[in-house]
Amino acid sequence: MSATAHLTCLCGAVSTSANTLLGSATFPISSELCHCNSCRQSSGTVVCSFLELAGPPDSETLAKTKAYASSDAMTRHFCATCGTHCFVHVHARRKWYAASGTIEPATQPEAVRDVVKITAHKYVGDSADLAVMLKRIGGREVPCYLETVDGESMSEKELSQLASKDKNSVPQAQELPARCHCGTIDLKIARPELKDAERYAWLFANNTKYMGKFCVCRACRLGCGFPMQSWTYVPPQRILRSDGEAVDFGVRDTNVQGFSIYNSSERVRWYFCGTCGATVLYRRDDRPDFINVGVGVLRAETGALAKEWVEWSGELFPLVMNRGSGLDGELIEAVAAHG
Ligand SMILES: [Zn+2]
Ligand SMILES: [Zn+2]
Ligand SMILES: [Zn+2]
Ligand SMILES: [Zn+2]
Repeated sequence: MSATAHLTCLCGAVSTSANTLLGSATFPISSELCHCNSCRQSSGTVVCSFLELAGPPDSETLAKTKAYASSDAMTRHFCATCGTHCFVHVHARRKWYAASGTIEPATQPEAVRDVVKITAHKYVGDSADLAVMLKRIGGREVPCYLETVDGESMSEKELSQLASKDKNSVPQAQELPARCHCGTIDLKIARPELKDAERYAWLFANNTKYMGKFCVCRACRLGCGFPMQSWTYVPPQRILRSDGEAVDFGVRDTNVQGFSIYNSSERVRWYFCGTCGATVLYRRDDRPDFINVGVGVLRAETGALAKEWVEWSGELFPLVMNRGSGLDGELIEAVAAHG
């Protein structure tokens, strides 16, 4: 039996049956978690996965997307209206892939907990911290590869060496670059200050780091196009432009060039890069004290999880938010085990 499925973006502009696209695949569909810089920085989340398609999407569906050539080898397509990453075209292989978070089982989505089955970690050479955390998924040992899934997988020793690279030699910078893959959105995050901690104590770990969470709710999944969004929560006055000016979060817009803004409801705004589609910020009018920042755009020296800036724990709030509504049960449980 093949998978009966739908492919959609957050706003619904990109919406198509996935049955023909997925061919004879059945749920769960095998895929790898990609830890490469390009996936992370163009999506805004820390790790991505794709499902191989039997052929290209139809031209009507593609017309709703914006194309971004992240390298000579591949073009990524994200919804021009809401920023959801939907497809990747790998030219040399003449292959199309769907961003795995956009695929929803057509019937009873909540009954299918495992749309994707993760069989490998790839491009761990770009960032190893999350792969180390997720060496086991669904009770299986998941092999790690420095680049593509090819040849021998990495040994335990190689992996831990990579994950601990230069941790102690990294200077404690006072500002953390937050820059999308194409560089159009180029911001900086400042360290929390003690006065922030007095007001927003629950946001900070030891008053020096921001809190990090994974969210697997439908909006966050579709917001980026991948199974988990990863957020950190920063007071607006600590989000700076590259020239050091504070970002001015006006009623509708900001003083930052290059953002596309999608209102998923009257009070909720998603700020994504209009060129590469990275989900950079998420803002709610009813929570003016902090703004969600997509951890995928953070350029920390130590890895994707930016651990010298972001504390990942289940203290106060669970490490994985909205666990019950996620579509990748094995992955969610593997992450949640670290909370
Ligand atoms: Zn959309
Ligand atoms: Zn990648
Ligand atoms: Zn969410
Ligand atoms: Zn960009």
